[in-house]
Amino acid sequence: MASENTLGQQYYILPEGATRLIGREAQRTNIAVAYAVASIIKSTLGPKGMDKMLVSELGDIVITNDGATILEEMNVEHPVAKLMVEIAKTQDKEVGDGTTSVVVLAGELLKNAGDLIEKGINPNTIIKGYDMAAKKAADLLNKYSVPIGLDDDDLLEKVVLVAGGSKNIGSDSTRKYLAQLVIKAVKQVAEKQGNKIVVDKDYIKVEKKEGGSIEDTQLINGVLIDKEVAHPQMPKSITNAKIALLDVALEIEKTETDARIEITSPEQMESFLKQEEKMLKEMVDKIAQSGANAIFVEKGIDDVAQHYLAKAGILAVRRVKKSDIEKLAKATGAKLVTSLDDLSPSDIGFAGLVEERKIGGEQMVFVEKCKDPKSVTLFVRGGTQQVIDEAERTINDEIGALTAALELGSCVYGGGAVEASLAKELRDYANEVGGREQLAIQAFADALEIIPKTLADSAGMDPIDTIVQLRSKQRTKEGMVYGIDVYKGTIGDMSKLGVIEPMKIKQQAIASATEASVQILRIDDMISAKASQPSGGAGQNTPPAGEED
Ligand code: ADP
Ligand code: MG
Repeated sequence: MASENTLGQQYYILPEGATRLIGREAQRTNIAVAYAVASIIKSTLGPKGMDKMLVSELGDIVITNDGATILEEMNVEHPVAKLMVEIAKTQDKEVGDGTTSVVVLAGELLKNAGDLIEKGINPNTIIKGYDMAAKKAADLLNKYSVPIGLDDDDLLEKVVLVAGGSKNIGSDSTRKYLAQLVIKAVKQVAEKQGNKIVVDKDYIKVEKKEGGSIEDTQLINGVLIDKEVAHPQMPKSITNAKIALLDVALEIEKTETDARIEITSPEQMESFLKQEEKMLKEMVDKIAQSGANAIFVEKGIDDVAQHYLAKAGILAVRRVKKSDIEKLAKATGAKLVTSLDDLSPSDIGFAGLVEERKIGGEQMVFVEKCKDPKSVTLFVRGGTQQVIDEAERTINDEIGALTAALELGSCVYGGGAVEASLAKELRDYANEVGGREQLAIQAFADALEIIPKTLADSAGMDPIDTIVQLRSKQRTKEGMVYGIDVYKGTIGDMSKLGVIEPMKIKQQAIASATEASVQILRIDDMISAKASQPSGGAGQNTPPAGEED
C-alpha cells in the first residue's frame, strides 16, 4: 500500500497486499457485518424461535437454539463478527442465559447508529448518547424489579421454565420435570452469606450419557465420576461409605528405584521386590487405619497396591480429575490429603452409597446420598447425542438464570415487556436531555424494542403494528406487565402468563451490547495485514474446481 509524502515521493508503510478501510467506509462495513451476525441468530429468539443445524468441517452435526453455540460453531472470520461472538460468550459466562438477546440488541444498536451516521450525526455524539441511555436504563431497571427469594417456589419454577422455554427438549411435563431437578440442585448448593444468596455453579456438575430418555435424567446428591473402580476384586458397592481423597501416587516412583540400585543376583532381586511390595502394603495399611473404605486418588495406583486395597475391602478409583476431587470434597466433607502420613479420621468424608454402575456400556462411579452436599450432579440422559447436548445446554441456561435471579434477588417481566418499558422511559428521558444526544437516546430506545418486535415476528404477528399497540398498552397504569404472548399471538399480561426473567440477564445484556457497539463505532480505520484472498481461496491462476458457470 503506497502513500505520498510532501515531496511527491511514494513510500510504503504497509506490506503489499494489506487492505485498509477508512472513515465512513470502515464504519459502514463494520455495522453491516455486526448486523448480519445478529440477523443470523435473530430467528432463534424465544419459544417460537427456530433451531439451527450446523455441520462442522468434519461432518459433526449440532442442532440448537442456543445463540452462543451457534455463533461459536459458525467459525466467523471478520474481526467485528468475532467481537459479536465474544459478547455472546461473555453473556454466557457472566449470566448463562440471554446470549441471543445480547447479540440481537448489539446488532440493532449498530444498525440504528448507522442510520444516524447517514443522517450526518457524528459518531461521537451517538457514542455519548448511547452511554447515557445505557446508564439510565440500568438505573431504571430497578423500577421494574419483581423480588424473588429461595422460598418462592412458584416464581423459581417460572424463571427456570422461561429460561429453558426456547429450546426443544420435549413436552411440558418433561420441561417441568427437568425444571424441578434444576431447582433442587441450585437450592442444594445455594448458600446464604449475610442476606445474600451465593450459588457456585461449578458445584453443579452436569454429566451426560447417551441412552434412556430425557425423563431418565436424575439429580444425584453427590458426584458422578466417569471412571471405573480400579480393580475387579474390589467391592463395587459400599453403603455408608467412608471416603478419603488422596493426592498421593500409590506407586513406587520409578526414578527412585531405577537410578541407584544395581541388582546382581536373583536373591537381591527378590528382596528388592519384597521391599517394594512392603512399601505398597504399608501405604494401604495407612489408608485402612484411617477407616476409609472408598478412596478417590488423583494419581495412579500400582497393581500391587490395588491388590492389597481389594483385600482390605476398599473401593478405589484412580486418576480422578482435580475438579471432581474438589466436588467430592464439597459433597462428602472429606479433605484432600497430600501425604499418607497426614491421613487421619478427621479427613474422612461420608456418602450414603458409593457404587459402580454400568451406564450405556461404560462403568461409572456414583457417590450419592451425601448428607446436605454442597456439590451435586445432574445426570442427563436422552436418546441421541444431539438430544442430550441440547438438554445439557438447556440445563445450563436454567442453572444460570436461576442463579442470576437468586443472587440479585430480582426479576423482570419477559416477553419483551421490560424492554418496552425501558424504551418508553428512555424516550421521555431523551426529551429531557434534548440536543443531538436526544436522537441517539431515541435510537437506543428503538433498539431495545427489537426484542418484543422479534418475538412478535416469531409468533406470526405484524411486528410494526404490534409495537405500536404495545407502546400504548405500556403507557397505561400497571402497563409494565404487557409483552408478547407468543403462544396466542397477542399482547398479553406477562405476570399472569408467568413470563419472568432474572434482572441480571437484562443488566448484563444492555451493558455488553452497548459496550460492543460503542467499541465498533469508535473504529474509523481498519488495517488488515492479511492479503485479501481471491474468492474460493485458491490462487488466481487456478480457479477452484466446479466453480465455473
Ligand atoms: P436468549 O439466548 O437471549 O436467552 P431465548 O431464545 O432464550 O434467547 O429467548 C429469550 C427471550 O424469549 C426473552 O426475551 C424472553 O422473555 C422470551 N420468552 C421466553 N419465554 C417466553 C414466553 N413464554 N412468552 C413470551 N416470551 C418468552
Ligand atoms: Mg434463553
